[in-house]
Amino acid sequence: MYVPVFWYLFKERHRKMSFLSGRIDSFFKKEYFIMKLSITCIPGDGIGPEIVAQAKNVLNAVAEKYGHDLCFTDILMGGASIDACGEPLTEEAIATAKAADAVLMGSIGGNTSTSPWYQLPPDKRPEAGLLRLRKSLNLFANLRPALLYQELRAACPLKEEISAAGFDIMIMRELTGGLYFGERRTVVENGVRRAVDTLTYDENEIRRIAVKGFEIARKRKRKVTSVDKANVLDSSRLWRKVVEEVAVDYPDVELSHMLVDNCAMQLVKDPAQFDVILTENMFGDILSDEASMITGSIGMLPSASLNDTRFGLYEPSHGSAPDIAGRDIANPIATVLSAAMMLRYSFDLDQEADAVEAAVQAVLKEGYRTADIMSEGCTLVGCSRMGSLLAERI
Ligand code: NAD
Repeated sequence: MYVPVFWYLFKERHRKMSFLSGRIDSFFKKEYFIMKLSITCIPGDGIGPEIVAQAKNVLNAVAEKYGHDLCFTDILMGGASIDACGEPLTEEAIATAKAADAVLMGSIGGNTSTSPWYQLPPDKRPEAGLLRLRKSLNLFANLRPALLYQELRAACPLKEEISAAGFDIMIMRELTGGLYFGERRTVVENGVRRAVDTLTYDENEIRRIAVKGFEIARKRKRKVTSVDKANVLDSSRLWRKVVEEVAVDYPDVELSHMLVDNCAMQLVKDPAQFDVILTENMFGDILSDEASMITGSIGMLPSASLNDTRFGLYEPSHGSAPDIAGRDIANPIATVLSAAMMLRYSFDLDQEADAVEAAVQAVLKEGYRTADIMSEGCTLVGCSRMGSLLAERI
């Protein structure tokens, strides 16, 4: 993107000069080269177009301040694509997403009881588009932060003495293996129905997510808690072994192991103890929902799905909220924070990501709230006003 070829080749040959290399790299990047960032946007359905518009506003403010060149290309996915093209995701849309540096998504889907999209066969419904996109982009690492903002502490369902300590957790979930992707069948044996799901992981699948986990920890508090069920499951015992092998390359990151049942308890008892939680698909599915619940505010939670390059798909953790779509009352912060994750993890622009996160903190501190996080004494704002306030504070 920004590093000229000669510099890249020089760096590859002189990896040991990492200190100098980092300095020169940052000099090139920040002072002399404008980063050209190509972002595919998926506004999607429901509140999707409203919240993505605000995330673009904030990204444009970042580009303006830090001198980057952003190029947004919109594609259709989900219900919007069904209506326009007869299918939830076209080959052309996939190609556009693949050609970008990263994808920023709103959310897809409609009211599952009333929308005609849900009369279609499962592989033609809105969600099929998202599954297909994740597969096409080989997104195997899912990142879901759970951060308690002190200004929103009242929404945290935990006891006051626990929430007072605050928490800032990154759940790293393996996304393409394990029980959800293993062989499954239901059979009848001697008149008795039997269902089988298979949980398999090979060491390569574990290694690549573990590497991501340690890399992400290096951008945070350098602490990884690997969660498994190694007292029972073979797949967990292999998980633990491979994570320990990977840890050897990250002596600066503290590794500990925790059984998944204990982790579920610790999340509500003492969430402040965690930095990065690294875990397999099903455990991560459950723990990340638990972690998001203890923050108390769904409109604030971003997420990212990464592959083994710097490419990622960034989206809020919530859905398309069809009940409030088109009324300019949705909270755009989860999408804005997803854009911050994109800056940090796909573009390595930590300073810019910090600026977006600081803008969110500032706006909350000044008492601005969308309806979903409103509390007494605060100022109620709509989706577009919240986006403008954030952009102004970059
Ligand atoms: P939802 O997250 O869309 O909404 C749940 C509740 O939270 C609703 O009351 C909604 O108004 C509110 N809410 C959600 N986001 C908000 C925001 N940013 N600001 C203010 N309030 C917000 O969940 P749902 O109603 O179960 O699902 C609606 C649709 O979204 C379904 O079609 C579902 O399949 C889809 N969905 C999509 C994704 C995705 O695109 N990745 C994820 C989850 C659900």
